[in-house]
Amino acid sequence: MPFIDCHTHVQFAAFKDDRKEVVARALRDDIFMVNVGTQQDTSQKAVELAHEYESGLYAVIGLHPIHTGKSYHDDQELGGGEAAVGFTSRGEVFDYGYYKKLALDPKTVGIGECGLDYYHGTGNMEHGTLGVEEKNKQEEVFRRQIELANETGRALMVHSRDAFSDTLRILKSAGAHDGIAHSFVRTIDEAKELLDLGFYFTFAGNITFKPKADKISADEVIKYIPADRLLSETDAPYLAPVPFRGRRNEPLYVVEVVKKLADLKGLSVGEMKEQIWQNAQRVFKIS
Ligand SMILES: [Zn+2]
Repeated sequence: MPFIDCHTHVQFAAFKDDRKEVVARALRDDIFMVNVGTQQDTSQKAVELAHEYESGLYAVIGLHPIHTGKSYHDDQELGGGEAAVGFTSRGEVFDYGYYKKLALDPKTVGIGECGLDYYHGTGNMEHGTLGVEEKNKQEEVFRRQIELANETGRALMVHSRDAFSDTLRILKSAGAHDGIAHSFVRTIDEAKELLDLGFYFTFAGNITFKPKADKISADEVIKYIPADRLLSETDAPYLAPVPFRGRRNEPLYVVEVVKKLADLKGLSVGEMKEQIWQNAQRVFKIS
């Protein structure tokens, strides 16, 4: 029974020099991984990477809300080339047919990461000041991806930042199911809303950080969520868990997340790993 990193980005530019070694390290320790796309190029690469291995790698494909319009540029994601920088200054128009083809690939287990991000905004704008037009565009692209997940029977990998009420409204009205809330650090009441929709919750390395005084601690919400809805992730190259905090993250470190989840749920690491693998099999329809 493997560990599983349910949301990672080994196909990103951050791993261009040692991708094979990073994957080999994870597989050697029996850690499976789901590489998640953020736009056409990283989605395509997630599928291609999965095909380079007989087993242990899967893909989730889709368009991240920050790439529906002009967005900040992150070298770790797309690299520093001119084309990549150009892309983040214009964004992407969601092409349903392009993503449907990727969605139907046998290595693809989900659609995303999709959702709403009112935090990052565009360019140099102040946080929390995203305009109505940009919000509407994110909503439209999110709805198309829910439709794609429903049509193809794939799980829905949801990214939501500073946008919980709009996210919930859209999920409900679009009839979303088989959903996964990625890197979920919200309140118990909000978790309950998603549990009622049948959602799963994947937690990343930030649950091992000491929470800032003004921030919600993930501990209480993890204790509240039933063990059969919990998943583990790294969100590598971001959010490296303690004791690797501050370094480039990688799937190998998902074990630290599982340890923390086990601790909060009063389970052994082996029991937590087994439960997470069963949950992943159920939501991603893998065996
Ligand atoms: Zn991510």
